[in-house]
Amino acid sequence: MSETTCAACDCEIEGEAIQVNVGGKPVEVCCQECAERLQEAQALP
Ligand SMILES: [Zn+2]
Repeated sequence: MSETTCAACDCEIEGEAIQVNVGGKPVEVCCQECAERLQEAQALP
């Protein structure tokens, strides 16, 4: 069993996940909004 959860909001991803790179690691999020949120968080010092 491999359920994918969003790295930003921690909800289960149904269907297609969006892959983003955070700190050089590929992570999966549920939507574009979460992808942007992760990348904003990463940009913080
Ligand atoms: Zn999400």
